[in-house]
Amino acid sequence: MNKTAMIALGGNAISPGTGSGTITEQFARTRESLEGIMHFVHQKYRICLTHGNGPQVGDELLRMDLTHVQVPPLPLGVCVAGTQGTIGYMIQQSFQNRLHLEGIDREVVTLVTQVEVDPDDPSIKHPTKFVGHRYTRKEIEPLARQFGWQIGEQEPGVWRRVVPSPKPRYIMHGSSIRTLVQHGTIVIASGGGGIPVYREPDGRLEGLDAVIDKDLAAALMGRIIKAEELWIITDVPGAYVHYKTPREQLLGDITVDQARAYLEAGHFQSGSMQPKIEAALYFLSYHGKRAVITSIPEIEAAIHGKAGTIIYNPNQGDHCENS
Ligand code: ADP
Ligand code: MG
Repeated sequence: MNKTAMIALGGNAISPGTGSGTITEQFARTRESLEGIMHFVHQKYRICLTHGNGPQVGDELLRMDLTHVQVPPLPLGVCVAGTQGTIGYMIQQSFQNRLHLEGIDREVVTLVTQVEVDPDDPSIKHPTKFVGHRYTRKEIEPLARQFGWQIGEQEPGVWRRVVPSPKPRYIMHGSSIRTLVQHGTIVIASGGGGIPVYREPDGRLEGLDAVIDKDLAAALMGRIIKAEELWIITDVPGAYVHYKTPREQLLGDITVDQARAYLEAGHFQSGSMQPKIEAALYFLSYHGKRAVITSIPEIEAAIHGKAGTIIYNPNQGDHCENS
């Protein structure tokens, strides 16, 4: 194995956009997605995987609200920890089965991962991250009143709950994750962006009720494990300029300077494509060699440089591997 890929799987890779998101549907979708991820195994990559948890953590929160009279509810931070376990289990088992089918002897493990954030991050007071089900305004307003939700309109007519989304600062247990990845173990870590924690003045860790952006957490993790490549797998073939207009154009190979210029020109929507480009730029400002944004069906071609949006740093020579 000669290359390390940090792979971030979007929520759609686990939970189908259509359907009710039953566990059967989630397992089926996960298995389909792993067909794409297997290309990294065939190309002998060391692999660290992370995933989103938006729909799942939203379901957990709703479950708490609906059962709080009978069972003491768990706070959001603990729900994120729970989804790391459940989604990690789904991916781990499906992945292990797929490897077994091909007679490949590699272990897949899931790590409960805490991520330090700034307790004064501006998003704590101004939540922006959409989680859970989509409702009409008429449906969500009574729920918001009953359960004290903060809500926002994601698209015209589509209302969802919003929660704080502080930026990741530091991934705990990074050297353990790196050791496992370097050993060849396939590691699923920092799921759902990681469990948000902060340090008390005396150094103790405390949990925080928020959801960290998984793309930014993946970039930080990619840096820590010294991955050469960051892969952001989503539901579009890549990043577009003039997205959803008649001038829309898929970006192929672009430099970090080009990506930054498009970002500053406002081509990427905040909360969806923008954090992916920011994550790519962050990753490439350390030892990363390329960041790829693409969809599951395009992975194989993208590995060979023939699909996806590939962002690279033209000034970065091979010295980067030792830094
Ligand atoms: P994920 O769960 O993979 O993070 P997101 O919904 O957060 O998925 O981000 C992917 C979405 O970003 C796409 O489905 C697309 O609708 C949206 N998007 C916004 N701006 C762009 C753009 N300029 N190019 C491509 N996709 C974009
Ligand atoms: Mg997203």
